[in-house]
Amino acid sequence: MASTLFFTNCHLSPFSSTAAAALRRHPIRVAPTSLRFLALHSAPSQSSRVAAVAAMGTEASAKVIDGKLVAKQIRDEITAEVSRMKEAIGVVPGLAVILVGDRKDSATYVRNKQKACEAAGINSLEAFLPEDSTEEEVLNYISGYNEDPSVHGILVQLPLPSHMNEQNILNAITIEKDVDGFHPLNIGRLAMRDREPLFVPCTPKGCIELLRRYGVSIKGTRAVVIGRSNIVGMPAALLLQREDATVSVVHSKTLNPEEIIRQADIVISAAGQPHMVRGSWIKPGAVIIDVGINPVEDPNSTRGYRLIGDVCYEEAIKVASAVTPVPGGVGPMTIAMLLQNTLNSAKRIHKFE
Ligand code: NDP
Repeated sequence: MASTLFFTNCHLSPFSSTAAAALRRHPIRVAPTSLRFLALHSAPSQSSRVAAVAAMGTEASAKVIDGKLVAKQIRDEITAEVSRMKEAIGVVPGLAVILVGDRKDSATYVRNKQKACEAAGINSLEAFLPEDSTEEEVLNYISGYNEDPSVHGILVQLPLPSHMNEQNILNAITIEKDVDGFHPLNIGRLAMRDREPLFVPCTPKGCIELLRRYGVSIKGTRAVVIGRSNIVGMPAALLLQREDATVSVVHSKTLNPEEIIRQADIVISAAGQPHMVRGSWIKPGAVIIDVGINPVEDPNSTRGYRLIGDVCYEEAIKVASAVTPVPGGVGPMTIAMLLQNTLNSAKRIHKFE
């Protein structure tokens, strides 16, 4: 009963420290979704895009954008490409992941990345360093991977322990292997006209890929991004702008965010605020991409918590034309985009078309 109330009532109790501790103890799993979904487009034609946009606003209930399904489709495509590359030139893409410390959530993310690599045929190298490692030790690993020809992508799992300078460490990754896309040169190129970043950060890239595969036209739309972090919000806004949307960014100091959000044809929410976006904030027919992953108390769950998005899904589904669920929306896309960036890096380095 409580779980029903949970999803039909968008007023939530804040997440307690007990539940936060439970989250750290247990891995985050994406629950299978039985929700219906739109027809997918691998490479949507202009007419299908127009049709999808024309359909906006005419539906009484929104379509569910199934990130699990799209991510699987992309991982299958990557697996086929990895195998083609291996057969043609004998090169296997390699991803090196550096994990410092023993945070359970970080260890889970790294394990999931490792499994996804294995499934796609990508080599996975890991450096697990103790919490009290020095910055120099981490930089030494990065330097080794920068030089290693079998490594095509390097990823430092964040957050790093507080005694380390994140900027120094991320800046040390060579731009050619920066598969997370966090290097200032990659972000700078993303922000500049007529420049191409070598890599785009995985989560925002996954959001745009979901829109693309569902045939949602971005050009000429009004888009709102909620959040301006270096990892999600800021690159998401830059990407939408590159796709010719007119973009507004809402952050914690924005006055009357609902008024701005209500004007948007496309909303990407990455605020980390459970159920902040209510149905009444959404323009009828808008497309909603919910990046937020927020643990909230749930006494019915054995873990004591469950994960919900920034958007009140139950309300959004009645107003929007398409919505991503949480879990099962953007989450699975992040790892798929990481694999894609690693494959693309190997192709670029070895000039393989
Ligand atoms: P950050 O905490 O770094 O950034 C949050 C942003 O949201 C900030 O810009 C902040 O504004 C803004 N914000 C916070 N509260 C509000 C509010 N009430 N109204 C408007 N804006 C607000 O988080 P991340 O960007 O790293 O992550 C955001 C969410 O996305 C989290 O829930 C995270 O778990 C999830 N996430 C999901 C991923 C996935 O794979 N699906 C991957 C990465 C993150 P200000 O700048 O003013 O502080």
